[in-house]
Amino acid sequence: MPTTKQYVNLPTSVPNPERGSTRALQVTPNTVPNVNPGDRLEWWIEPAPGNTDSIYLSPAQRPRLQFNETAITVASGKFENSITFPPSGGDKFVVKVAKKGDRANFLQTDEFETWRKIYYTVHYMGADSQNLFNSLKGKFEGAFLEGFVELQQIQMVATATQMARVDATTQAQLGRPQFHFMRDPPNGVIGLRPFGSGALADKPHHVALLVVPDIYRVEEKPYAQPTIRAVTGTKNFAFKLHLDPGDPLAFVYRATVSWPGRLALDVRDKLAVTGVPTRVSSVMTWDLNTVPGLTNHLAAAPANNFNLDIKVIAESTVMGYSVANFCIVRTIDGSTDVLQTFTHEVGHGVGQTVEKESRWDGPGNALSAEHNPNWHTDPYGGRGPHCTTNAVLQAAPVSAGLTTGQWYQYGGAGHLCTMYFSGESHVEPDGKFCPACVPRLKRFNLESASMNTRRWDYFG
Ligand SMILES: [Zn+2]
Ligand SMILES: [Zn+2]
Repeated sequence: MPTTKQYVNLPTSVPNPERGSTRALQVTPNTVPNVNPGDRLEWWIEPAPGNTDSIYLSPAQRPRLQFNETAITVASGKFENSITFPPSGGDKFVVKVAKKGDRANFLQTDEFETWRKIYYTVHYMGADSQNLFNSLKGKFEGAFLEGFVELQQIQMVATATQMARVDATTQAQLGRPQFHFMRDPPNGVIGLRPFGSGALADKPHHVALLVVPDIYRVEEKPYAQPTIRAVTGTKNFAFKLHLDPGDPLAFVYRATVSWPGRLALDVRDKLAVTGVPTRVSSVMTWDLNTVPGLTNHLAAAPANNFNLDIKVIAESTVMGYSVANFCIVRTIDGSTDVLQTFTHEVGHGVGQTVEKESRWDGPGNALSAEHNPNWHTDPYGGRGPHCTTNAVLQAAPVSAGLTTGQWYQYGGAGHLCTMYFSGESHVEPDGKFCPACVPRLKRFNLESASMNTRRWDYFG
């Protein structure tokens, strides 16, 4: 009997019995050896030897049958039961039945293998982006198949507009990215809820991928100078100020001066960018001599001072990022980087990599968590959780801005994992997960709380 794939993360669906973590079972009486009307049937599951160790499965997640024995169901004239699958992928189960007390003469019914399915829609900006994605599709899907996660493409959609770069704004006060490009045309390009009106079918496990030529992250950075007396000044920033040929003040979001009796005078037009900003260096100058009343206020008493409060707008290039069930990558880096960024970002989307995993003993009592020795997070480079396979800690440059002063760099042997924190020539070229991550990808529960807190269901 062929193995049936069961997609345990998908919502249960009556017309699609392969979806969901439980599945109804039926056995016709005269197919089971020695069974006569009125007999009871024994049911049991035989798990395959390589299945996920039950130490990683809570009692509620463990595979089981609804009943260990059943009488015939009068309405259907069949023996009925149901099986509950674990959330892990790649586990195989054979269901067997026999007349009660006659296990030796069993009937093997179904053989199941657990899978997880994630639907995806590609939004591409221009034919080059479309062709590049299509050339990578097999490897992109292949990287996840190793963890028994099946990616299924639903749609390929052209963006409404083509642009040289796509910017997203991070509003620091809200801590929430503002995706202007998510709106409907003409102001946006992909039109996905909640910013646009488009919806994704087959939620909640549906990810939207956006492939564009280049990506910038644009965000506000505060700079305050309290109780100063100097009306001119210079500030060096270790990032690129946002410039726009059409707006000479594009680099400043807000600039005010205040002193007792004068609140928040707008001084944006007193600021300027000097020289040409680079990725790691910008110079801003200001001259407040013409601010009404300021020089008189300072001259009135040596102790008089004022506050200068500025929010500048910084921009940085990024290879890609993911937020909830949305992922954006740029093509400017070439196909290998696009593939690695896709598997990396969707890897984040499915909860890779984890810091620790919960464990339970045979009877189901909670044990201590198992820590992932390759897990690291922001203090050692990158944003969010990452993998250190084949990397070692080295001194980091100050420009990396790391509190530890150290980051993980290639150790000299083997491939880095696709969940390594940055684009690097030693990352596995097919965008694959490392041998330490694959087993976790395989047993990761797509319905877990960490998935929900990432708001996997957010867009569309
Ligand atoms: Zn990452
Ligand atoms: Zn890894």
